Amino acid sequence: MVLAGIGSWYLIQTKKATSPEIHIEPEKKEISEATLVSVYDNYQVDPALKTAWGFGCVIKTSEELILFDTGGDAETLLFNIEKKDIDPKSINKVVISHIHEDHVGGLEGFLEKNSNVTVFIPGSFPNSIRDMITSQGAKFVDVSGPRKISDSVYTTGELYGPPKEQSLIIDSEKGLIVITGCAHPGVVNIVKKARDLMKEDEAYLVMGGFHHPPIAVVKKFRELGVKKVAPSHCTGDPVREAFAEEYKENFIEYGVGKTIEIKNN
Ligand SMILES: [Zn+2]
Ligand SMILES: [Zn+2]
Repeated sequence: MVLAGIGSWYLIQTKKATSPEIHIEPEKKEISEATLVSVYDNYQVDPALKTAWGFGCVIKTSEELILFDTGGDAETLLFNIEKKDIDPKSINKVVISHIHEDHVGGLEGFLEKNSNVTVFIPGSFPNSIRDMITSQGAKFVDVSGPRKISDSVYTTGELYGPPKEQSLIIDSEKGLIVITGCAHPGVVNIVKKARDLMKEDEAYLVMGGFHHPPIAVVKKFRELGVKKVAPSHCTGDPVREAFAEEYKENFIEYGVGKTIEIKNN
């Protein structure tokens, strides 16, 4: 289901956002295709790309390109983006999950390359980050509650970790796709929040950093109706292996250079 009424307050804000409201609309607009490209991760899938500790993913929809997290440094990030044949200037939105350096560290250098973007930051960020974004000539939006980012792309809003963190939700025809940066609020809580917000009782794919949860997370994912998993970054090898064993062909070995195509066929 779609979070609606959001368009009405979907304004570029230059001051701290007030608490947003969520309205649920009866009709559903789902994305039929999306491509997810890992451009920063400590796990490696394509040896032509560079690895470093952190997370960054480009989401391509029919509407636009969104960068979710910028890794720890812009040099690695931009190198990898270009290796995947993506023009950094074709990205027009950036979403930052949380304040840790391995997610926000590449932002300033990315903006030096392309400032023609809107950056969706957690509202709890200090003003120094807003000042940096505007001094590079880019715009920012403070995110507190859940909201729309793009057609069929939403943020969970800030959930408490610590630190406060937002995760992305893509409402696809195949089901919900949930992308987490580090999952400090707990990956199970994030998946529950995404299902509740979107009025769904399962999720097609959960991917990103899961913040080394207990092995029981695998069973919890099954209970939550998660069909595919692509854990990386801070998930930890034992949990990753447990997911691989349980999910078999629905475990996606995710890491830098990996492209996941979402297609309704
Ligand atoms: Zn973190
Ligand atoms: Zn991290």
